[in-house]
This record gives sequence, structure tokens and C-alpha cells, in this order.
Amino acid sequence: MSTFLTSLEQVLSAEHRPILFDHDTWHSTSQLRNDVLQVKHALWDAGLRERDEVVLGLPNSYEFAVVYLALLQSGVVVAPVNPKMPAAELERVLTRLDAKAVMVSQAQADAWNRVLCDHEFGANLNIDLAPTEGAGTPLSIVVSLAPSRLSQTAESTPEGATGDDAPAVLMFTSGTTGQPKGVMLRRKHLLHAANNVIQSHELTEEDVAYCILPLFHINAQVIVLLSTLLSGGQLVMADRFHASRFWDDVTSHRVTWVSAVPTILSILSKQQSKARPAHQLRFIRSASAPLSPAIKTRFECSVGVPVVESYGMTEAAGQICINPLPPGVRKVGSVGKPFGLELEILNDEQQPVGPNDVGEIVIRGQNVIEAYVGAEGKQSDSQWDGWIFTGDLGYRDDDGYVFITGRAKEIINRAGEKLSPREIEDVLSGHSFVDRSAVIGVPDPLYGERVVAFVVPVDYETVAKGALVNELEQMCKDSLAHHKCPSEIVVARSLPVGPTGKVQKHLLRDVQTLHLL
Ligand code: ATP
Ligand code: MG
Repeated sequence: MSTFLTSLEQVLSAEHRPILFDHDTWHSTSQLRNDVLQVKHALWDAGLRERDEVVLGLPNSYEFAVVYLALLQSGVVVAPVNPKMPAAELERVLTRLDAKAVMVSQAQADAWNRVLCDHEFGANLNIDLAPTEGAGTPLSIVVSLAPSRLSQTAESTPEGATGDDAPAVLMFTSGTTGQPKGVMLRRKHLLHAANNVIQSHELTEEDVAYCILPLFHINAQVIVLLSTLLSGGQLVMADRFHASRFWDDVTSHRVTWVSAVPTILSILSKQQSKARPAHQLRFIRSASAPLSPAIKTRFECSVGVPVVESYGMTEAAGQICINPLPPGVRKVGSVGKPFGLELEILNDEQQPVGPNDVGEIVIRGQNVIEAYVGAEGKQSDSQWDGWIFTGDLGYRDDDGYVFITGRAKEIINRAGEKLSPREIEDVLSGHSFVDRSAVIGVPDPLYGERVVAFVVPVDYETVAKGALVNELEQMCKDSLAHHKCPSEIVVARSLPVGPTGKVQKHLLRDVQTLHLL
């Protein structure tokens, strides 16, 4: 029996009460249960069975939650994708999957029509949820089916599919360092990651989460949606982050915590705050990308709400390390301590390093996959077989707090000296006119690689660019060894950012991209 499904079932069969707010209305537990059941039956009638793969391309909405839970409960593997991605990207996804159906809104079914037809998704089935009193029209859910791939005989339950080992969610990593890697998360991975979040954030049924990150990524799916549901809390759904609405929504719905990314904290910290956020907001979680100490301090000083930095990755169902909640010690620049999993730091010879020594972070645990789908990613044949090599470099201090220093692939090798972009970026981002920075190594005939920095000013139009570069050069000279100082600082309007808010440095090395900045 699946503990994960039993836990979800308990949530859905809880007494009738509001659980999810979307489009100006609260949806109740009983409504969610009925709608999940309706979708489950519709999918079964359409011929979808356990282990079939279904692409889910709905926007953040109540309907996303309904379909996601229905697919999980049916044992159908969900592959969530960005509902706004261009048809060419859907084409690549469909080529990599063996999808039996694509579930989208009517608008997206129209936009993706040609690619869907090319991949033999001929039959369309519409699922219309019953409207809720006071709510707008529910999103019509279109199921595009590939009849030729639907199994005619898969009536019986495949062995193992009912337990916690059953595959549940097929994700692709963000593609920050190259081609996205396929990650199959099983029910146990989702359950353990969600439970780790519930424990570390001390989530209870009193909590109200505000979902502003896209649900097609692991952060919002596990950290926000599943953790909230499994802890019996309430969820306020936004289609995306709206800076102008943020504090009004937090206040009017008595939101107690928010999962965010550094870009969002940066934007919020620069707002001329009209009113202090309501006191029930316990903390804001930051993860997915490095949080510069400057942004963290600016946010906490201007807003007065603690930022709890965490570290996660798709391969760990979103959760690896976490800083403790206040009054616990949140160390500046640290992603906190491993929570509910094993973490080691290895040197180049794959030996564990001691405190304060930098190496590659490897992880293993109940919420961590053991291998990638297909032959992707780095697999180990050593004693570390079954551990995931994160590709992140970092160290643990004497108290066990983890500090990420960068990504192995992004380390700059200048005349044999290994330089961490993160250290240089933290210096640049410390300038009050700088919103964001990215440091890369570019080929150099003399040094092998040299350091080039890109900075995005808080106000690109008005800033005196030459003066800013001079000041930044001086700051670097004051705080960094000579060989770490950028040989060039480019003031850019923006940086190429991936779907999870991370700067895609491989694109920065691309001359074509540079012309667009
Ligand atoms: P790909 O693996 O395809 O290159 P990706 O690693 O960016 O893409 P995700 O799984 O979305 O894909 O992101 C996980 C990564 O995000 C981590 O390995 C780490 O590099 C980065 N990350 C997450 N949280 C933090 C954090 N708090 N500080 C620094 N980096 C973080
Ligand atoms: Mg990765």
C-alpha cells in the first residue's frame, strides 16, 4: 500500500473546509475530492492506465492541483511542462517521452495544435469541472490523446505500481548547465521531500502558503503544493508573481509563509513599501539560485521578515539543505544544514573532505533519485554509486552549515588557479546600484581563461555606466586577490535567465547572446 496515497487521501477526505484559493474563490476539501475523482474517472474511461506518461501543461490554478492529484492517485506518470513554452520546445519534450496524452487549457491546445497533430495526438476530450459559486468560469481542461499509443489491454495493475516505489512525476532539470536531464521521481521521493519541508518549516494546519512560483517546477509542486496539502494547511494560488499585488495578497489572505527565489526578493526589497507586511508572515524561503548576502540584508531590513535560505534540486524532489527558522541560527551565505538526507563533500579523488574544504556535493536519501532517466548525468562506478553528484561545489563549516561556492562546470581556470564566480559575484552585488551579477570565464590566449563580469544595474537607463564600472573595479581590488578581479565588467540591461530564475551562463559565453544584452 502506498503511504503517499494514503496521506493524500486523508487530506482529501478531511472535513469540509476551505483549502485552496484561486481566482477570487476558496475551494473546499470536499470540492477538491469530487473534482479529483471526476478527472480520475475521465482519464480511466479515456484509456489511461498506471505508468502511462501524461504531459501536464496547465498554468498555476486550482485545475492544475486537481489534475496533478488525479494523475498521482491514478498511478499515471505526470510530466509537468511550462504551459507557455513555444511549440518547438513541446516538440523536443514529446520526442523524449512516450506520452499517451497531453493535458492543457483550450488556448494552449490551439497554440500547440500542429505539434500535437504531428505526434498523433488526434483525439480531444474536454473535462469541465462544475463551477463553484462566486468563482469565474473554470478552466476547460483539454486532454489530447494519442489513440495509437493507448494500451488496449492494460487493465490489470502492473506489479509494484501501487506502492511508494511507483514512478509518479517525470521532470526535467532546469538546463542551467546544458541539456535538461530527465528525472523520474517516485512517490516515496515526493513523500519524503514534503515531510522534510513540513518538519523543517514547522508547517501545521494553521499555515497559509502563497504559491507564486510556477507549478511546472519542483519547488512549487513539492515545497508549496504537496507540503501544504500534507500538513493540512491552506494554499493561496497566484498565476505568477505580481510585485504590485504581492503584499495585498499576503495581508488579505493572512499568508504565513512564501517560497520565493532571489530575483523576487530583490524586486520586493526595492519597492517603496507602503505598508509593513502583516505580522502573521513567519518567513520567506529562498531557494533555486544563489542568494547574495546583499539582497538578503536589503530584504530583511526593508521588509522586516526573516529570509530562510534553502538548497534544493530536481533530483532531490526539491529539498536538500535548510536554514533553521528563527530563533535558530541562519548563517549569512549558507544554505543551512542537510535535512532528512545524507550529504558528503568529495575531492577530485572522490574522498570526503574535512570541514571548510571545498569539494563536490553528493547526496543520497529517501527523497533522492539514484540515477537519471536513460544514460544522462554523471554516474559513478565507485563506492559513491547510488549517490547523486550535484555538480555543486561547496564546503561545510565547523557547525555543519553548508556553503555553496559555485557549480563545478562554472569554475574558472585562470592560469591553473581555480576561481569561484560566486565569490566575485557577491562582491559586485554588494554595490547598491547593482541588482544582479554573473561572472564567467572566457578563453584567453595567455591565461587559458580570464574573468569577465556582467552586472545589471538597479536602474539601467539612468545609471552612469562608466562611473559604475570604475567603482566596481575599485571594490574588487579592495576585496579580492588580483587574479580574481574581472578583466572586463560589462553593464547589461538583463541576463539570460532560465525558467527557475537562474542565470544561464552557458548562454553568456555565446557571442550571439552578448549582442542582445
Ligand atoms: P541542470 O542540472 O539542467 O543544469 P539546474 O541544476 O539549474 O539545471 P534544478 O534542479 O532546477 O536544475 O536546480 C538545482 C540547482 O540549483 C542546484 O544544483 C544548485 O546549483 C542551484 N541551487 C538551488 N538552491 C540554491 C541555493 N540556495 N544557492 C545556490 N544554488 C542553489
Ligand atoms: Mg542540476
